[in-house]
Amino acid sequence: MAQVSFGVLNPPRRILMGPGPSDTHPRVLSALAAPTVGHLDPYFLQVMNETQQMLRQVFRTQNELTLAVSGTGSAGMETCVVNLVEPGDRMVVGVNGVFGGRMVDVARRAGAEVTVIERPFGEVFTVEEVAEAVRKARPKLVGLVNAETSTGAWQPLQEIARVVHDAGALLVADTVTSLGGMPMETDGWDLDAVYSGTQKCLSCPPGLAPVTFGPRAIAAIEARKTKVASWYLDMTMVRNYWGQDRAYHHTAPINMNYALREALVLALEEGLENRWARHKRNHLALKAGLQALGLQYAVAEGNQLPMLNAVLIPAGVNDVAVRGQLLNEYGIEIGGGLGPMKGKTWRIGLMGETCHPRNVLTLLAAMERCLTAQGVKVAPCAGVAAANASYAAA
Ligand SMILES: *Cc1c(COP(=O)(O)O)cnc(C)c1O
Repeated sequence: MAQVSFGVLNPPRRILMGPGPSDTHPRVLSALAAPTVGHLDPYFLQVMNETQQMLRQVFRTQNELTLAVSGTGSAGMETCVVNLVEPGDRMVVGVNGVFGGRMVDVARRAGAEVTVIERPFGEVFTVEEVAEAVRKARPKLVGLVNAETSTGAWQPLQEIARVVHDAGALLVADTVTSLGGMPMETDGWDLDAVYSGTQKCLSCPPGLAPVTFGPRAIAAIEARKTKVASWYLDMTMVRNYWGQDRAYHHTAPINMNYALREALVLALEEGLENRWARHKRNHLALKAGLQALGLQYAVAEGNQLPMLNAVLIPAGVNDVAVRGQLLNEYGIEIGGGLGPMKGKTWRIGLMGETCHPRNVLTLLAAMERCLTAQGVKVAPCAGVAAANASYAAA
């Protein structure tokens, strides 16, 4: 046998300013390297308990059934949908971006009869639009995306939750991108099932999906006539491992749970309100800078996400060349457009650890260089100056 050497793993240093993953704190990376223990080790059970307590704080909920699903944000989506839907159940899903579209696919695979309501990419739903859809379809479940990472649009949920409940339905909310980066209130807004991911504003590597189920959702799960379509994501079993019984279901990804625990400690040390304010402050500075470089936001004022800044690519500018230059010369990753926005927008993330003035100013300086290379006329240092003015005024 020939000897083959693959060398030592040595990933490049990046500034992750795309739609996720975001930069991770060294304490989170150290947690990943801590000794692995068994999934029933008393130490790990304590880690699980602490993680649940902290997840409740971050989700702003008293919900008992709050835990980290093994899998990325999409596993959180699938967990909420498959546990609440039985074949033939009606569900209304709002599609104004890629992730609403994904929820439709997940729900149909679970056997739901899905009514799709649509808005163009970048727009959001009004309370009245959802109320009308719910009146017509009489669904068991309504699914909406709180922060559409594919478009940069923020969907308010509080009033919508009320009309959904008035119609006797449940509301499931995708908070993969919003959680930890902007106000999100599971109990305050009366949301029934909420899922998220670790690698956006919680700044942990991808691999777990925090979820929480409220009393109405648990009643719906307990009233099921059929088994949950997914064995792996079946909350009626997974809850016995996270609850008092500690019944083995699947081996928890031990070190990923360490990392999430550390990321949650960091978030709570900072304080959620402070963290939201930090995202807003850096977003406003980035926005001032991008606009000074001549870049326009793809989402209307008032619905722009602080942690995901989608801007229109100017006519004549090569999308792939700019993103390549940012990565190769500056080590900065930004995102391209998804779905119908492909080639039309850049998605600039300011999530969790990434959301810092040093990254805002570096990106603006680098972007000036890239736009100039594309033949765009930019006043020297216009972006950086506008961002600094925004910081100075804050
Ligand atoms: C990233 C994301 C997802 C999917 O999460 P994965 O970790 O990629 O599986 C779902 N919804 C939204 C809004 C997201 O931003």
